[in-house]
Amino acid sequence: MLIGCPTEIKPQEFRVGMTPAAAMEAVRHGHEVVIQTGAGTGAGFADADYVAAGARMADTAEEIFSTADMIVKVKEPQAVERAMLREDQLLFTYLHLAPDPEQTHDLLKSGATCIAYETVTDARGGLPLLAPMSEVAGRLAPQVGAYTLQKANGGRGVLLGGVPGVGPAKVAVIGGGVVGTHAARIAAGMGADVTVLDMSLDRMRYLDDAFGSVFRTRYASSGNTAELVAEADLVIGAVLVPGAAAPKLVSRAQLSTMKPGAAIVDVAIDQGGCFETSRATTHADPIYDVDGIMHYCVANMPGAVARTSTIALGNATMPFMIALANKGWREACLADPHLRNGLNVHAGKLTYAAVGEALNLAS
Ligand code: NAD
Repeated sequence: MLIGCPTEIKPQEFRVGMTPAAAMEAVRHGHEVVIQTGAGTGAGFADADYVAAGARMADTAEEIFSTADMIVKVKEPQAVERAMLREDQLLFTYLHLAPDPEQTHDLLKSGATCIAYETVTDARGGLPLLAPMSEVAGRLAPQVGAYTLQKANGGRGVLLGGVPGVGPAKVAVIGGGVVGTHAARIAAGMGADVTVLDMSLDRMRYLDDAFGSVFRTRYASSGNTAELVAEADLVIGAVLVPGAAAPKLVSRAQLSTMKPGAAIVDVAIDQGGCFETSRATTHADPIYDVDGIMHYCVANMPGAVARTSTIALGNATMPFMIALANKGWREACLADPHLRNGLNVHAGKLTYAAVGEALNLAS
């Protein structure tokens, strides 16, 4: 199979769909790989790295879209890319079709077969191609939270770990899933005094077993949440209610109970955010102030660490990409129901019920 990987063209996107390691693996399985010149630059991969891995470089996206059997990307195809998709082509990337009728329409019109990273599942009920980005965002959250707390950024001038003779910052993490667990680990590793709030007793039992006294857990009743938010120097929002907007767990009125200059990092902002005062920001202008509380609400946090994110995503997508290339999409999806869950569009038809329901289209 000819596998093509174009340069990402969505603004502020520095990741790339295939690492040189993924290219090498595909070549080792007997496939041909073509990468757009410069596609890996934002993630720190030179064209020479891909050539050394056995790939061929192409100057334009047109060359890739017109020849490849499978296109491997990161972000949903943009309008100019959608116009180049072919009926007999396989697209493997993040799609997030439910809130995007325009893209859905174009993909249906293209006749291509489109497998979405975000709906591929695993045997434990998880989302293996979303998890790496939650891990990245979770580990990044205390880092950006620490920066937000610095005086020059409007924060209260508190160092997360304190110093000998000065106590550490208090960090409350709301939601103890993938993001929350990684955030809590890193914040505790930086020396902060960390508490994770969650509604799931099973999840808190797991966290308690796995992490012992590294951080505490508290049931996320509104009373406990209000108490911990009021005490915290840094609050990290990491909740997810699958298929729904994030619940608003902290109201604007509650900001007045917080310490002046305290920081909020709302990782759940891509689902609308779990603070009433959250609004999506960008890496170019990430922090804003509401009532003296500093908010960091970047919707694509992994983009800040494009190299780590690209490698983490590549590790997760590689086995699926190889299965698709080796068997073709039909056989690969028949053999693996979890990969089949990723199939969103085929031959002008929606094949993923939740997208059909969200967009009021037949699937
Ligand atoms: P997850 O499903 O692993 O964890 C979510 C946790 O929230 C679960 O443990 C659940 O029990 C808990 N929860 C649900 N409702 C709650 C409530 N009312 N109070 C307390 N806890 C509650 O999800 P995840 O992978 O950790 O993702 C968390 C959020 O981060 C999602 O919205 C995801 O889209 C987002 N995210 C954002 C970025 C970004 O760049 N901003 C990157 C990755 C993930």
